[in-house]
Amino acid sequence: MARPTLDGLGEELLVNLMTKVSLTCRQGDALFDAGRFDAAEAKYFQEAFEIVGSGLALPTTAGDPTGGVICDLYVGLNLWKRANLMGCCVGIAKCLRRKNDIEMALAWCDEVNVLYRCGFHQLPQPIYDWIDWTPDIPELTLLKSTALCVASEILAELGNSGTATTRRWNAHKTTKNLPMHHQTTLLHGVLNRALRNKMLELRHPDPHAPLGTGPLVPGLQVRGSWARLNVAKMGGVTDGREAFACFIWNSHLYVAGGRTSSTGPFHRDMWKLNLNAPEQWHRLPGYPVTLGASGRFIGWTMLVRESNSTVLLFTGRPTIDVFDLTSETWSSAPLHTTYTPTAADVEAGITDGWPWPGKVSCDATVMFSASQNTVYVFGGSHARSIMGCDLFMALDLATLRWRRLSGSVRAPRVANNGCPSPRKNAGGWASPDGARVYLLFGHFDREAASVYNELHGAGEAFGHEDFWSWGVKEEKWRRERIAGNPPCARTELAYVYNEKLQRAIVFGGYHPTLPTYVLNTTTGRDTQFNYSYFGDTFLYDVAPSPSPDHATPTSRAPKWAQVLTAGFPTYRCQAQFAVDSTTGKTYMFGGWTNNQYIPTHTQMMSRSFGDVWELRVDLPGGNFEGVDVEEEGRVARAGPWQRCWACAAAGPWKKCGGTCKGRVFFCGTACFREGWAEHKRAHKCRKA
Ligand SMILES: [Zn+2]
Ligand SMILES: [Zn+2]
Ligand SMILES: [Zn+2]
Repeated sequence: MARPTLDGLGEELLVNLMTKVSLTCRQGDALFDAGRFDAAEAKYFQEAFEIVGSGLALPTTAGDPTGGVICDLYVGLNLWKRANLMGCCVGIAKCLRRKNDIEMALAWCDEVNVLYRCGFHQLPQPIYDWIDWTPDIPELTLLKSTALCVASEILAELGNSGTATTRRWNAHKTTKNLPMHHQTTLLHGVLNRALRNKMLELRHPDPHAPLGTGPLVPGLQVRGSWARLNVAKMGGVTDGREAFACFIWNSHLYVAGGRTSSTGPFHRDMWKLNLNAPEQWHRLPGYPVTLGASGRFIGWTMLVRESNSTVLLFTGRPTIDVFDLTSETWSSAPLHTTYTPTAADVEAGITDGWPWPGKVSCDATVMFSASQNTVYVFGGSHARSIMGCDLFMALDLATLRWRRLSGSVRAPRVANNGCPSPRKNAGGWASPDGARVYLLFGHFDREAASVYNELHGAGEAFGHEDFWSWGVKEEKWRRERIAGNPPCARTELAYVYNEKLQRAIVFGGYHPTLPTYVLNTTTGRDTQFNYSYFGDTFLYDVAPSPSPDHATPTSRAPKWAQVLTAGFPTYRCQAQFAVDSTTGKTYMFGGWTNNQYIPTHTQMMSRSFGDVWELRVDLPGGNFEGVDVEEEGRVARAGPWQRCWACAAAGPWKKCGGTCKGRVFFCGTACFREGWAEHKRAHKCRKA
């Protein structure tokens, strides 16, 4: 709506007046505050449908063609109607939370986020997600923040500390630079600085969080277990790898290339480990192409083609290298792919006849759809962009021809709302039926921009918070809702689609701008990291089968669930998942972490991991049968920390010195005295 130009005071008066007239949701708030919760809920619903009409189901649910983030009806709402509808959504979320309908309460909080996001589509020119556009209506600011903080409280109760903390941090970030008339007592009560600072001390998962062994919230939580494989002999990749390629074939885990640390050594080798008898890594022929011809073997992806027992290596060159898994040799007949740019492709910056400048691509999201016989490549960096691009290409393996589906060679000056913005190290997978290709999070390296004279530079990287899917038939992107109990924004995450579980799985990664505070109880000095590393695990279910006692509209919709595990691998980025298609088991290997982020005695700034883990989840086919949940709760390591056998607290505890050879740990003499008798009995330990 057009607002007359007035001086500051006049404008404020007008805003106050409009607030009173337009925000009928406040009638619901009055009922809520009077304790008349059913009447409040009814009022919120009535006012909400007054705005959207009867044609729209509220809350709109994820997944179906109308269930994306962008809703034409919402884009068409003026700011006051938008604020009023947000008020109704927040009110309904609060009412449902009181009734313990957690999933629906979260869906209504997300509806506020969607309403806010749709506002961006009213701007005369699309803007990138890293620009936070806030209309000058304090009520709208308050409602947006309230929805984030209500969701944060619910997620914290669910034990999803990463997403809970990110939501509360985002509420702070989106409001901190707004003018004084937004900074109301009410807003600051919602933002709750003390709670925010407390939450920023958490790790995700937090080793001190109580181990929920009680009943889970169906649909939002799944029990799981991380088990480390005991590779007896050192050597090969056991000294740690980052930015490597990784896959599983015939129950063997393969790792190729990458580096030991950011300063090297840089590898071009290949190794395999028998997952059924993981005694040692075996060396295979290294990558035969010269460094001069291919560049470093960093941030590349290898894709298994079960149909002919080969694996493909995409490097950004027209030649796709092929490794024959049966003969264990690099094929002398690699795939020679071709590409002919269209006029639109040239317009998109493909000027030298090949999509990736310098014929290199790294940190792209490379996905294989077996049912479409197609390789999809999104984003990544190349010779003319180190920040990450939004180029989306498809290679038809039948014709060996590339085609550009969306995006440009370099990040355009003006954003495009219709496709994911530029990024690298995103997660992604093709749905098994070949109908959709998913893209999750990743980051745009704005810090690196100035070095290479690229657009959109800034002092810090931007961590994408979005989730997209590409409709293969309609050739269109849809920005997806992130429903359920989801992971927070992150990049360099481990991801895979497990066909046996029918779930995508996500683990770890890092958030480039979510701070972590570390209180040192010995020195009394605090350290603040401007980033966070994660060790949490999530599943994405695209077609949940709703339980009969849960008839809400969200129960059938695609959604995320957190996997709750007593132990977990140390917080890290660049780890990789792979699924053994023979057994359906999910394995994770490698990655790295900043050493200051975890307790350590070394002087090195970072360390990479060479460990192999199996993730077991309590779902059909999840290999959970052998897991002793109670025992795990007392012995499983919480990231870098041991767990005390007696009290289950996590910390740098001492091993039991008995004949058990350190099967359990104790946090101190009190717990040792208390737990010794039981440990003796349970593990047949004797004083050594
Ligand atoms: Zn990293
Ligand atoms: Zn203890
Ligand atoms: Zn012992």
